[in-house]
Amino acid sequence: MSENIIDVIDNYFASVREQYGEVLFFEKNKKKDKIPEKGKKIKKTEKAIVKRAKKTENPETEGDTEVSVPTFVSSNNAVLSIEDDWNESKTLDELNNKIHNCQKCPLGNTRTNFVFGTGNPNADIMIIGEAPGADEDEQGKPFVGRAGQLLTKILEAIKLSREEVFIANILKCRPPNNRKPFASEENECEPYLKKQIELIKPAFILALGLTAVDCLLKKTHKMGDIRGSVLMYHGIKMLVTYHPAALLRNPNWKPQVWKDVKLLRKLYDEYLAKK
Ligand code: SF4
Repeated sequence: MSENIIDVIDNYFASVREQYGEVLFFEKNKKKDKIPEKGKKIKKTEKAIVKRAKKTENPETEGDTEVSVPTFVSSNNAVLSIEDDWNESKTLDELNNKIHNCQKCPLGNTRTNFVFGTGNPNADIMIIGEAPGADEDEQGKPFVGRAGQLLTKILEAIKLSREEVFIANILKCRPPNNRKPFASEENECEPYLKKQIELIKPAFILALGLTAVDCLLKKTHKMGDIRGSVLMYHGIKMLVTYHPAALLRNPNWKPQVWKDVKLLRKLYDEYLAKK
């Protein structure tokens, strides 16, 4: 019986290792940590490395006990981290600088580029999708592939430019093979999106697809039940429509999307008139 459990656990870790590589398996007393240049401002995690390196040089150093600050080591041994005070960022640029090396979930190890989001930092409208795809991962920008081009056209149809709105995703890194994000990945990454929303303070959110809306509202929905309604997200009006990638696969959904974005435009015009 207990042997069976050990086999199950062994198999589980073997499959995780196969899927994500070595990033989940931290080595104790790693010797090849990169030591920051002398005089350079260093981060907390780097301080831990300096401390550990000093201990290696002189094991007798007084009071130098085992370092327990977590460091995250990528496949090329580069030390990557987020800054502890990222949630106190005052601007989007500051936030981006503090989190763009994130390795909180395994996607940090498989991404090519971190995709923060782009657009107007004071936008009235935020467009929120699911996660970067191959093109986005390659360019480090959201919605730049075929689905992104379609999104640009949809926005233009309601007289909005990409520069006027802010476009982001629930996840900042691409899930392999564009699979649906795992709940654990959403839980790790969503706080960054929440901070972006807090900084931008949009009047409207347009959620693209059910993954985005379910993650934001922490509830499972059916598209047919929520399209055309105004939902609320922490006091912000939220509309939902199909993700442009889904629209590319199902062009017959065009009229519904057109109706949804026209409603957004109407509400936005009313908002502007009162502003
Ligand atoms: S997906 Fe989000 S939580 Fe995961 S590594 Fe990328 S930025 Fe970090």
